[in-house]
Amino acid sequence: VAGAAQPDCVFCRIAAGQIPSSRVYEDDRVFAFLDISPLARGHTLVIPKSHAVRFDELDADTAAALAEAVRQLAPRVITAVGGDDYNILNNNGASAGQVVRHVHVHIIPRREGDGLGYRWNAGKATPEELADLAARIAKP
Ligand code: AMP
Ligand code: ZN
Repeated sequence: VAGAAQPDCVFCRIAAGQIPSSRVYEDDRVFAFLDISPLARGHTLVIPKSHAVRFDELDADTAAALAEAVRQLAPRVITAVGGDDYNILNNNGASAGQVVRHVHVHIIPRREGDGLGYRWNAGKATPEELADLAARIAKP
């Protein structure tokens, strides 16, 4: 069920204060805390308080609140750790690397020479393929 807190969901329990976390932000809809296995110092997770697995399952108001919290938190995270830049990452589904099945947005501080990397293996597409795909996605 999207929305209702799931007793066996670790991020529902963190949002409810039932599991300890390093909280950095909280409002009616959103909770943010430090990742326990950071990719970089300051690695932060921003989650909706209501349970949903994937980003597209959020209602519009919750999605907007989540995005706004990320927008405001990112520069604060960077300032706190003395970073330069950041990645925003949201994995949806197992094949996309989602391990915790409760929507979460990663804020990952970056700096020149941090060695984390970010380039995926880009493919190729013909103009015809792109036009056909764009039309299919645009179709209501
Ligand atoms: P993902 O692979 O996108 O599902 O990312 C899940 C993230 O949650 C990982 O970066 C974990 O380190 C992090 N994580 C899992 N459990 C906890 C926890 N109890 N407190 C803080 N971060 C956690
Ligand atoms: Zn949950």
